[in-house]
Amino acid sequence: MRHLKVRMATRSAVLIGICFVGALAAQTPRPAARAVVFEGARLIVGDGRVVERSAFVVSGGTLASVGVQGQVTAPAGADRVDLTGKTVMPALVDAHTHLGYRKDGTFLAENFTRDTLLYELDQFASYGVAAVASAGTDRGDLTFQLRDEAPERHGGVVVRTAWRGLAPPDAGPNPPMRSAPYGVSSEEEARRDVRELAARKVDFVKIWVDDRNGTVPKLSPALYRATIDEAHKNNLRVFAHIATLADAKDLLRSGIDGFLHVMRDRPVDDELLKLLAERPQVFFTMTLFGPSQAKGEDWPRLLQNIARLNAAGVRLALGTDVGGASAGGRFGWTEHAELEHMVAAGLTPAQAIGAATKTAAEVLRLGELGTIATAKSASFIVLDANPLEQITNTQRITRVYLRGEEVRRVRN
Ligand SMILES: [Zn+2]
Repeated sequence: MRHLKVRMATRSAVLIGICFVGALAAQTPRPAARAVVFEGARLIVGDGRVVERSAFVVSGGTLASVGVQGQVTAPAGADRVDLTGKTVMPALVDAHTHLGYRKDGTFLAENFTRDTLLYELDQFASYGVAAVASAGTDRGDLTFQLRDEAPERHGGVVVRTAWRGLAPPDAGPNPPMRSAPYGVSSEEEARRDVRELAARKVDFVKIWVDDRNGTVPKLSPALYRATIDEAHKNNLRVFAHIATLADAKDLLRSGIDGFLHVMRDRPVDDELLKLLAERPQVFFTMTLFGPSQAKGEDWPRLLQNIARLNAAGVRLALGTDVGGASAGGRFGWTEHAELEHMVAAGLTPAQAIGAATKTAAEVLRLGELGTIATAKSASFIVLDANPLEQITNTQRITRVYLRGEEVRRVRN
């Protein structure tokens, strides 16, 4: 009897102890996960450098130290992952996507739900895409929620957004996205819409300057100048969808900050390069995937234009248009196809990887992404083969880590 009492008392104490620990766990932050040392991989830093036998320490979602194997000090008790024979590169950043419209092979405005967006972000994560920018075709507040909540709640992918872009009424993007942007007819409307975007704290302003082969009105110079002026007054940059060389030049003279397509109606000329040289921060996302599928007579010119921009040292960033009208719905996969097309356009594999990591992260002002360096986000891809030798090797993914956590990969 006495023995039983003792046992019961002990059991109660254990139960109380468990409850107490449980209460503590709920009230105090969880202890940081143990540090992990990744050793032996060829490391593509993202800034052009390569470390052949690297070691790096991941702790609390960030890179605690990065260096050469044997010279990086691991914290006591750290776990070790042997990556000998593998290649590690930074996770990708896509500066031009259209989220929310594609589901089960359909392309519809009513698909724009949190579930659709979560599915797309899981796809991006599975292919090693750490951040995406939604380029002006959002509906409701969903993308703001995704941007502002912890990325761990949606696959670890960082979201940036222009929310709703500006175009003439019933113009701009192709249906079903056409109803999303502001339709502007006057400078006053354009300025008012930009002030609303600033109040919503968008990450950039998107405009469409394209008549879609004469089928819709084009945003006029007066309206895009008012848009750019008002955006700059509100400390926002403006990124333009364009199709023609002439529009690119006039937008540069009007203060545009970036282009989400490369002109393909005419060859890049010296006048354009001179305007770009005066504005070295201006970038292009190359958006090659859609045209690569259509492959009309513009395709060779598009590749030549990118080659010329690249040779002139113009900033080139990954931007696929995935989710939009022309680029389809293979989120994540398309970014790797885009890397192949960049190399077809004359970028070296190292330049293509730089465009898809460091430059794209800089364009979106995501200083924690884009390179594998001390104090940056531990967001990287582990590959079975070296993409500097063959760019398609970026597709030979064995693991993806975003913000220090291995991604459970689910692929379309
Ligand atoms: Zn687009």
